[in-house]
Amino acid sequence: MIETTIAGSLPKPSWLAEPEKLWAPWRLEGADLVQGQRDAALVWIKHQEDAGIDIVSDGEQFRKHFVHGFLESIEGIDWQRMTTMGIRDNRYEAQVPTVTAAVRRPGSVHGDGARFCRAHTRNKLKVTLPGPMTICDTIADAHYGRRADMAMAFAELLNDEARELEALGVDVIQFDEPAFNAFMADVREWGVDTLNRAIEGLTCKTAVHICYGYGIQQNIDWKATLGSEWRQYEEIFPALNASRVDQVSLECANSRVPLSLIGLLKDKQVLVGAIDVASTDVETPEQVAATLRAALEFVDAERMVACTNCGLAPLSRAVAEGKLKALGAGAALLRAELG
Ligand code: ZN
Repeated sequence: MIETTIAGSLPKPSWLAEPEKLWAPWRLEGADLVQGQRDAALVWIKHQEDAGIDIVSDGEQFRKHFVHGFLESIEGIDWQRMTTMGIRDNRYEAQVPTVTAAVRRPGSVHGDGARFCRAHTRNKLKVTLPGPMTICDTIADAHYGRRADMAMAFAELLNDEARELEALGVDVIQFDEPAFNAFMADVREWGVDTLNRAIEGLTCKTAVHICYGYGIQQNIDWKATLGSEWRQYEEIFPALNASRVDQVSLECANSRVPLSLIGLLKDKQVLVGAIDVASTDVETPEQVAATLRAALEFVDAERMVACTNCGLAPLSRAVAEGKLKALGAGAALLRAELG
């Protein structure tokens, strides 16, 4: 009852990349880089276990960027042809590569990292992959012509990758779809179809992470325009509840998302975000327990998983460690209370 997990990313240790900077370049290369990534993953697995996190992850230590970390291994993408594009409905400008031919996955992308983590923890293991819609919002198209078609092509590659990860003993495969929160009509028209294609045939748990983003300035500015109640999820949760995905995330710590929207996910497990990633204040266990307790009005404890609002990557290592401990301790408090 009330398992704990994290949304995905954790800070890179200083030997691996410059701390407190999103998508910082690697400080190592070649075999040293692989060793450094593995060392970093071990550190974070240990911290998660010690904090009482039940479903652990590599904290994205094997990738620089949550989308490009997958795309770097995919054929059909021209990385010399960079395009400046407004992404997440023009919330940010980003330099993105261009799809110039049918996309193809020549081999496993995240298998080595997953195999390494599987060998070093007895806890359940989660691996995150970028969702098809978010990939298509983070890349320029000079081949497919329709975003929905390009997303379906990526969904097929993601499904192959996910099936291999499942065979390696991964317990939860999560698709990160922050774009679901920017293109609500597209989610209903084709986004959920591509998500269903990406998880087709999987028997492990599947999750979709949607969010209001990392605690960076562009997101803080955007959230200030959304009014006193953030009801975006209301437009997509019914479609997600009808999808084949097992778990859906939403942020509940210091957010203006009405908790009643959880009621739209009555057939899903709900990843309740109880850690604010936009603040360097470390929550107390009591605060985490209070956030989870409030959500219990709309989801029973058997379907609730305690989680972070989003990734912890931009924070300092000490703050991220503190937030992991608070999450584990807060969930334990509530479990004890519920007997
Ligand atoms: Zn997120």
